[in-house]
Amino acid sequence: MQYKSTRHDSEKIPFTEAVARGLAPDGGLYLPDSLPDLSGYLPEWESLDYEELCIEFFKHFATDIPTEKLAELVHKAYAGFDHEDRAPLVQLAQDIWVCELFHGPTLAFKDFALQLLGQLYGYQIERTGKPINVLGATSGDTGAAAIYGLMDLPGINLFILYPNNRVSPLQERQMTCTGRANVYPLAIEGSFDDAQRWIKQLFSDLEFKAQYNLSAINSINLARVLAQCVYYIYAYFRIPEGHRENIQFVVPTGNFGNILAGWMTSKMGLPVKHFKIATNQNDILWRLFNTGEYKLDRVSPSLAPSMDIQVASNFERFLYYLVGEDSAKVREIMKTFLQSGEYSFESFDRDAFSASRSDDEIILNNIKHIKSQYGYTVDPHTATAFTEDDPTKTRVIMATAHPAKFLQAMEASIGEATTHPVLEALKSRDPVKYELTSDAELIRHFIVDHSGIAS
Ligand SMILES: *Cc1c(COP(=O)(O)O)cnc(C)c1O
Repeated sequence: MQYKSTRHDSEKIPFTEAVARGLAPDGGLYLPDSLPDLSGYLPEWESLDYEELCIEFFKHFATDIPTEKLAELVHKAYAGFDHEDRAPLVQLAQDIWVCELFHGPTLAFKDFALQLLGQLYGYQIERTGKPINVLGATSGDTGAAAIYGLMDLPGINLFILYPNNRVSPLQERQMTCTGRANVYPLAIEGSFDDAQRWIKQLFSDLEFKAQYNLSAINSINLARVLAQCVYYIYAYFRIPEGHRENIQFVVPTGNFGNILAGWMTSKMGLPVKHFKIATNQNDILWRLFNTGEYKLDRVSPSLAPSMDIQVASNFERFLYYLVGEDSAKVREIMKTFLQSGEYSFESFDRDAFSASRSDDEIILNNIKHIKSQYGYTVDPHTATAFTEDDPTKTRVIMATAHPAKFLQAMEASIGEATTHPVLEALKSRDPVKYELTSDAELIRHFIVDHSGIAS
């Protein structure tokens, strides 16, 4: 299998190269050259456990990694999950299921992608013998998931920027209490957007990037989307056969990475026709899928902070298919959108998608309602997925985080906080962070001093 960019699809590169690059040099995102039809394999895959399914799935995509090696990487990636099913399904009512995606080390679904991406980075270091310096900005969940995915790999240094005093205390503890010498949480004076701008600035210095072998960790890496495809197929198999005709996956959505993975499995033959985008008050996608207007707004902080996003970077991958795999058209649309902050689609084929929107009030009400009706506790992100019922569908709600990560919202809604032993254990460890009154130059010096590469 070869990979191509959404913006110029003539150059084809192998899987490991697309993973190492992350973003394509033309600013586009990588996609498989053609999506395989997996429908013929589904009967044999039904009885596989999570890791076995993941290996069989990736055999179609990671074709330049020997199968034995692939199997080793997959087993290592998911060994740290605290549930033997990895993504267990819980039934709440006759036709409502929850797929729990929070059994990884940082208690959010991002672990599925970043644990595997970490192993893929490890494989790259093993093959090239070159250390990698990973740089990323986070407003919370991604930073923690990236750190836990990569921190034990020999040859990795991790520099994670976050706005000082603006991430939740628990999220900060997850990043700063690892006890690992190769993890550098950089608490900067500035916003998340500042952090992202400085990182872009550092990456645009190609000489610096090459000398220190810098790599970016963010939601655009193709391997992350593919890793997320696996649990949709796995969840499908866990719905009893008589209930599979009219499944709808409901997905708390920010950057459109999680739900895109689900939709891609349906394009590859998984017989699921309905996907629901659940947004919080940052509702660019809700507006798009209802009106055809793709229009930026300001980010407004909510109780579901990992969905506080306006530009959904993975939307570009859907767009590529929407315009009939026409990369020139994608270039034109993205250019208009980046220049003016909006794009109007004349005809917008919503395909399998519907969308809902939940503000903070709805989130708090939903947590309470779900607790009293089903005796089940959801986190504020997952709460957005419980909008109106459609009795004709079997709903599978993707639960993206464990409620113990969001104490304040849980207390505000149901008057009690959930705990989790993983988070409790962090309290006894000393936090280590590096405060930088920053600009890009200070960050550059910090990386040079801690990169393990002679300057
Ligand atoms: C990242 C995140 C989301 C949003 O996922 P996308 O792939 O960006 O759409 C939702 N919930 C939680 C808990 C997250 O960490």
